[in-house]
Amino acid sequence: MLKGKVALVTGSTSGIGLGMARALAAQGADIMLNGFGDAAAIEALRAGLAREFGVRVAYDGADLSKPAEVTRLVAVTEQGLGRVDILINNAGIQFTAKVEDFPPEKWEAIINLNLSAAFYAIKAALPGMRARNWGRIINTASAHGLVASEEKVAYVAAKHGLLGMTKVVALETAQTGITCNAICPGWVLTPLVQKQIDALAAKDGIDKKEASNRLLGAKQPSMEFVTPEQIGALAVFLCSPGADQMRGVPLSIDGGWVAQ
Ligand code: NAD
Repeated sequence: MLKGKVALVTGSTSGIGLGMARALAAQGADIMLNGFGDAAAIEALRAGLAREFGVRVAYDGADLSKPAEVTRLVAVTEQGLGRVDILINNAGIQFTAKVEDFPPEKWEAIINLNLSAAFYAIKAALPGMRARNWGRIINTASAHGLVASEEKVAYVAAKHGLLGMTKVVALETAQTGITCNAICPGWVLTPLVQKQIDALAAKDGIDKKEASNRLLGAKQPSMEFVTPEQIGALAVFLCSPGADQMRGVPLSIDGGWVAQ
């Protein structure tokens, strides 16, 4: 379905971003990977994806907390793979502390990556999408884009902001073939969440299975993690003609989290 399209997926060396990159590659899209990690492992991932799905796969390790790097990443994708048809703003980090203890540098880091990077990437990718009158912009928000939790002030503010950005971009492109939507996952078992499970296990002196059950029990009625593959399937749907008139929508995939 996506043969000939080029997808830039930020934060795709791991977790949800990798799940979306794999799902798009399986539909024939060429992929620009981005994110941090061990160079040899990333090269193995890049070459493996290209081989498995018979698509072009490139990688750039741009640090998206820096606006100039975001703009450069879009330009490098356009130069190397020819265009950006699908932009998935997914790279994100987490830090937890009460508001009065929240380190200003952590606030800055989360806002820069989880919110501002999406603005700079959209700004850079939109002209090419407009020229071709087709584009898909998918922002990885969170259940925390719709509701809050304690000790996550920067993350919740960034994800709520990202949903606002999603709506504005959707309105400004409403009469074009470009759509902009957001995916709002609940708990997905990725390194980002594993750190929170480990911290809870250490704090409460419990094993990791019990800690992960407590995490799910507090928020996610299904008591099961969402998977990167399920999120990838949703991203593929958003790239399909069936989603042409979905514009500015926050799509929950959260085991019932925000239904409560
Ligand atoms: P993850 O830690 O597995 O992946 C994060 C990715 O971002 C990695 O590829 C990492 O290298 C990359 N990254 C980190 N800092 C970067 C930077 N400065 N520049 C470029 N890339 C950078 O985490 P994940 O759980 O897959 O999270 C992906 C997105 O999903 C995030 O936006 C996160 O907020 C969101 N999310 C996660 C969950 C969850 O339960 N895991 C739930 C809702 C939303």
